[in-house]
Amino acid sequence: MEAQKQITVTSPLLPPLEELESYMKDIWSRKWITNNGHYHHELEQALCDYLGVQYISLFTNGTLPLITALQALRITGEVITTPYSFVATTHSLWWNGIRPVFVDVDPRTGNLDPDKIEAAITPRTTAIMPVHVYGNPCDTERIRAIASKYGLRVIYDAAHAFGVRVNGESVLNAGDISTLSFHATKTYNTIEGGALICHDAETKQRIDYLKNFGFAGETEVVAPGINSKMDEVRAAYGLINLKHVDAAIEARRRVAECYRTALRGIEGITFFDDMPHVRHNYSYFPIFVDAEQYGMSRDELYFKMRDVGVLGRRYFYPLISTFSTYRGLPSATTSNLPVATRMADEVICLPLHHELSEEDVERVIACIVR
Ligand SMILES: *Cc1c(COP(=O)(O)O)cnc(C)c1O
Repeated sequence: MEAQKQITVTSPLLPPLEELESYMKDIWSRKWITNNGHYHHELEQALCDYLGVQYISLFTNGTLPLITALQALRITGEVITTPYSFVATTHSLWWNGIRPVFVDVDPRTGNLDPDKIEAAITPRTTAIMPVHVYGNPCDTERIRAIASKYGLRVIYDAAHAFGVRVNGESVLNAGDISTLSFHATKTYNTIEGGALICHDAETKQRIDYLKNFGFAGETEVVAPGINSKMDEVRAAYGLINLKHVDAAIEARRRVAECYRTALRGIEGITFFDDMPHVRHNYSYFPIFVDAEQYGMSRDELYFKMRDVGVLGRRYFYPLISTFSTYRGLPSATTSNLPVATRMADEVICLPLHHELSEEDVERVIACIVR
């Protein structure tokens, strides 16, 4: 039998080469290749318009805006966060000498459970760092109410939430700061890249100093900043991709719809449905495998898929709280995080990207339907 082609979990949205070439020619003629250049400025403007936000700062990846956000707001002590995320969320706290306090998630969204946040607040708590996991919007209203009651800052890791809107309003406008990742694996990419969204000009100015060594002028350094600037080549790449991202999201939506139609009603398999009033971006399609009901464990299904060239991803497994850096924390115990632990043990993200054919989708489904 002929070996079947592999179906990857994701595939980067690539700008058409001819389009990229004309932008590159322009950059070559300008000879200004980084440090707040022409396309850097254009991409910030275009993203503000596309996303519906007021202030955005581009970064060289999606981790440094998290680290910089904590510095800009001078966060110290303890920060409440979720263990059910990519490890960069918690690492950003560690890099600032902040102690992460893990709180369990809501099984309906995978996001920080607002009912459990207050019990984790101590006199040392200064902020909450939730994640809109898989692009599912957090309960931003409840989190805002808790934060204002206790005088806490809120920094959203919105790495999965590019273009997500609730009642027509960008989810990136919630909290004090939100951050995005434009990594190759994300719905919208600049190869490596990221951004920070804030809501006033003064904060934006401070962020822009911090991402350029703290330089506030030719001879003035106002803070121990880092180098996290986005260059002109990736800014131009990002401008082109921005023109094509809606078509990619629509293609992803169609795949997600096929999965839902085919998998609904299979005993032991659950997944998220679209939430009312939310414009989703279809960044991931996680399914949860209840071993007892389905008759096969998550890992058995995962490796069975792999054997026929269907590459899912156990995303997010293991939980961040189980990694050696964090597992000694009092909040890292399994008994404190039962929902997140179960989700991590049951999840497989199915292949989801703009280039999947109907045949690919059928092959994925055939692995799961029994
Ligand atoms: C991808 C991701 C990041 C980090 O982004 P990079 O661009 O890879 O640095 C942070 N948080 C979450 C939840 C992510 O998925």
